[in-house]
Amino acid sequence: MAAEMPFELRLSRLTVNSLRNLCDAHNVQGASSLLKNELVEFVKKSFDKKTLEDFCRAQEEIYFVENMAKAIKWSASRKIVSVDPDSDYTIVNAIFTLRRSDGYEVYNIRFVNQTTEDVATSCECVDSREKGYFCSHQMSVLVRCLAEGMFTLDQWAGPMTPEAEDLILANVFRKKRKPR
Ligand SMILES: [Zn+2]
Repeated sequence: MAAEMPFELRLSRLTVNSLRNLCDAHNVQGASSLLKNELVEFVKKSFDKKTLEDFCRAQEEIYFVENMAKAIKWSASRKIVSVDPDSDYTIVNAIFTLRRSDGYEVYNIRFVNQTTEDVATSCECVDSREKGYFCSHQMSVLVRCLAEGMFTLDQWAGPMTPEAEDLILANVFRKKRKPR
């Protein structure tokens, strides 16, 4: 999933806390007073690319599974996740609506699946538009589509991790992952 994403973007979307934790874990001094942009430059100078790539991958997996846990809960609510009834395997249009204390979060989500190898996914939120994440809103639409049998996990060519797949199987389909 993250392999095609530019390395610069993968680094820049990490949180300040996670970048500082990386430095602390390797006893690299001098990170604590830096702002986000300076911190990104600092870790690029302080670590080799392999270490940073491994770190990005680990953080991305955490992002994915944490958001999938939220998405599974949201996907069960018709108030939160509304999928256009004309949607099918080739194109899914949905609206995500979540009530907050200060108003509503509303995002349009779209999956376009023109080939069997790849699916283009989008959401209007900052995590998706600016950081390139497969966000929790898209995940909640994906889980709804799976739960309703619009397509199967095997047919889904978009972003997924083994841990998130386990969560979906256990919580949406109530069955164990098939042995690999
Ligand atoms: Zn989103």
